[in-house]
Amino acid sequence: MTLATVPCYDPESVRDTGCRAVVVGSSVAGLLAARVLADRFAAVTIIDRDQLADEPEPRPGVPQSSQPHGLLEGGRATIEDLFPGYCDALIDAGGVAVDTGSDVEFYDDDIELAQSGVERSMYCATRPLLELIMRRRFAAIEGVEFRGGCTFLDYRHDDHRGVVEGVRIRNESGKTTTLEANLVVDATGRTSRTPNWLAEHGYQKPPLDEVRVDLQYGTVQIERPPATGGQCSSRRPIPTAEGR
Ligand SMILES: Cc1cc2nc3c(=O)[nH]c(=O)nc-3n(C[C@H](O)[C@H](O)[C@H](O)COP(=O)(O)OP(=O)(O)OC[C@H]3O[C@@H](n4cnc5c(N)ncnc54)[C@H](O)[C@@H]3O)c2cc1C
Repeated sequence: MTLATVPCYDPESVRDTGCRAVVVGSSVAGLLAARVLADRFAAVTIIDRDQLADEPEPRPGVPQSSQPHGLLEGGRATIEDLFPGYCDALIDAGGVAVDTGSDVEFYDDDIELAQSGVERSMYCATRPLLELIMRRRFAAIEGVEFRGGCTFLDYRHDDHRGVVEGVRIRNESGKTTTLEANLVVDATGRTSRTPNWLAEHGYQKPPLDEVRVDLQYGTVQIERPPATGGQCSSRRPIPTAEGR
């Protein structure tokens, strides 16, 4: 896949479908979906069961939060399309730009692999920081509301018309309410209940593609000795394909 195959966002491609959309899950998928919906819906409400602080704090809904995350090129281009200036804001807030061709060392069975010599630049940050910079960008977009500490319980469904009309949610104090919506986006990731919900309500379960990866992931935090050098530049210019 090359960057040329990643389509640019075209706001005209989103049709008007109603006044309020609800996005369940305020992770990266939910935030990007909400950004697109905000171009056509008067009100977009994003709910998440975690609190959404104005600080880059780890949160239970994303257990890998505090791990450094790398923005691959397709994701970077898409995020930058939707939130122009995103990567500069990320760097200003403490993210780093690394050259994975020289700043990162790869080992296989204790043997250091040769550096490729090919520059591959990548923005890196913790997940909370990647998300926070996106959430802050919504401040400039009208009609978008965040509700943290809000758990999705079920869809509100009109059995006769076969239409989802909103969601039932529980707030932090345990109160259950309904949020009406013309469109609901499920961005709850791997814990999504929607496939089973569809089957239970007589709809077809979407087909599932599963790729089994026989790979374990282990990380450890270390304190870098003061004089190791090799600092990655937080201002490394990132070359981009086709000006994106
Ligand atoms: C250790 C590790 C390192 C990784 N590193 C990278 C990396 O470097 N780069 C990269 O691109 N990817 C990386 N990934 C993968 C990446 O984290 C996942 O692909 C991504 O999190 C999936 O995003 P998502 O928005 O679909 O779902 P999730 O991130 O799982 O988000 C789901 C959201 O829904 C919320 N939610 C769930 N249920 C409910 C409910 N009932 N009510 C309300 N809210 C709910 C959760 O709180 C959460 O905010 C890594 C993964 C791991 C485990």
